[in-house]
Amino acid sequence: MTKIIDYFIDGKLVTPNGGAQCDSRNPATGDVIASVALDDISAADAAIIAAKDAFPSWSETPVGERCQVLFRYKELLEQHFDELATLIVTEHGKTIGEARGDVRRGIDCVEYACGAPSLMMGRTLPRIAVSSSFSREREEGIPLDSSLERVPLGVCVGITPFNFPIMVPLWMWPMAIACGNTFVLKPSEKVSQCALREVELAHEAGLPAGVLNLVTGGPDVVNHLITHDDVRAVSFVGSTPVAKHIYSTASSAGKRVQCMAGAKNTMIIMPDANQDAAIDGVIGSSMGNTGQRCLAGSVAVLVGDAGDWFIPKVVEAAKQIQVAAGDATDCSMGPLIDDASVARVTSAIEGGVASGADLLLDGRESETPERGCFIGPTIFDNVPHDSALATEEIFGPVLSILRVETLDEAIDVTKRSRYGNMAVMFTSSGHAAARFKNTAGAGMIGINVGVPAPMAVFPFTGWKESFFGTLHSNGEDSVRFYTEGRVIVSRWF
Ligand code: NAD
Repeated sequence: MTKIIDYFIDGKLVTPNGGAQCDSRNPATGDVIASVALDDISAADAAIIAAKDAFPSWSETPVGERCQVLFRYKELLEQHFDELATLIVTEHGKTIGEARGDVRRGIDCVEYACGAPSLMMGRTLPRIAVSSSFSREREEGIPLDSSLERVPLGVCVGITPFNFPIMVPLWMWPMAIACGNTFVLKPSEKVSQCALREVELAHEAGLPAGVLNLVTGGPDVVNHLITHDDVRAVSFVGSTPVAKHIYSTASSAGKRVQCMAGAKNTMIIMPDANQDAAIDGVIGSSMGNTGQRCLAGSVAVLVGDAGDWFIPKVVEAAKQIQVAAGDATDCSMGPLIDDASVARVTSAIEGGVASGADLLLDGRESETPERGCFIGPTIFDNVPHDSALATEEIFGPVLSILRVETLDEAIDVTKRSRYGNMAVMFTSSGHAAARFKNTAGAGMIGINVGVPAPMAVFPFTGWKESFFGTLHSNGEDSVRFYTEGRVIVSRWF
């Protein structure tokens, strides 16, 4: 019988008892590796109760002690590095190199959260005013001192996507708990085993019961968690339609909400770009992680005669990509996450052909393993600027190439996008790069860098329909998101 993935509630593994379930499959083989409980509202309630009960004692634990658990956790993640990367390959399908990157960037977030004692520090301004004395007999005024403290919120909830199974949950809960909150994580039903292992290791590091809990589930469980009376804040990472739903539903229920959402990212290639760097950058950005990345550069805008050198080189580089299971020797691109994704990407390719774009490389015809959710690198040239290929997130290894004459026209392409996660330029001109940076209309800018993912000390700053909320994940924003300010004004007689 297929193993059902446990919950982790109040410091213990808890076996789900029935209800609707879905299969979790190895995308490279199609084999069912586990099943996932989808609609267990009572488990969501139990997780919130555990988190609520744990909050008073955890929030009063000195921040330095809280961080000691995270220091031990970081060491455990290092010790279990290969185990976690291998689990990502099996459950998600990444190449082993991509899986290692997922774990490494997750560890960066834990390291950053270990700085909570400094990051949470408040401010003090002595003698902010002098009050007149209530006693007519006293002549001198009485000074007022004022300070701001950052304090935890309470129970926070995290809803995460499938594409970075270890890292994205680590964007959320380590900083949340370092700041004194308690947490309920609901990972993607496609990669819940990775998240469960991540949470188990936190308890091996000494995290007290109830501080961090995990339940699996689908939309009903999510909707219950994000509107629950005992939840103060909701962090979400996933697609834009779901992000809009989470943002409006959770905000209406009075929660503090941050939603990191979908994207369609443009890379501008100037004729003067360093050619090898541009090709490497574009291939890595559009095809890496099989295109399943919110920082995938899926649109290349070629300015002037850049196409003369860019097109032959990019097609040749894409042809060198070896599509195989993530742990196969020489694999440079793994499968998509599931059959539904293969169908979506296939349909996007068909739509691209129908739009009149030139199909230079067709991933449907790539040499791929017989079983599994595979599709190869795909490249379209002369893509109509307003077609779905140019404007909609595909989340697969499809590069759409647009042609323009001038830098202004290229920048217009990025500005017109309803998304604003990332924009990239490859150029040798500082002047062009500066104009681009200031006008591209995206929150993460790469200059001669294909995937400008901020390190954990910086926030993940998507704009427009790539983000809903005020404070982003990571960096100083995350400390602000997971705390609220308390201002104290005092005087002494
Ligand atoms: P998704 O939106 O399908 O799912 C994300 C989470 O929401 C999952 O936990 C899922 O169970 C839950 N969910 C799905 N439908 C729901 C519904 N109707 N109601 C309530 N909850 C629901 O996203 P995905 O396919 O797992 O991930 C890919 C998407 O995530 C892409 O659009 C990608 O760009 C985006 N993403 C964004 C960032 C970022 O930082 N901006 C990072 C990673 C991924």
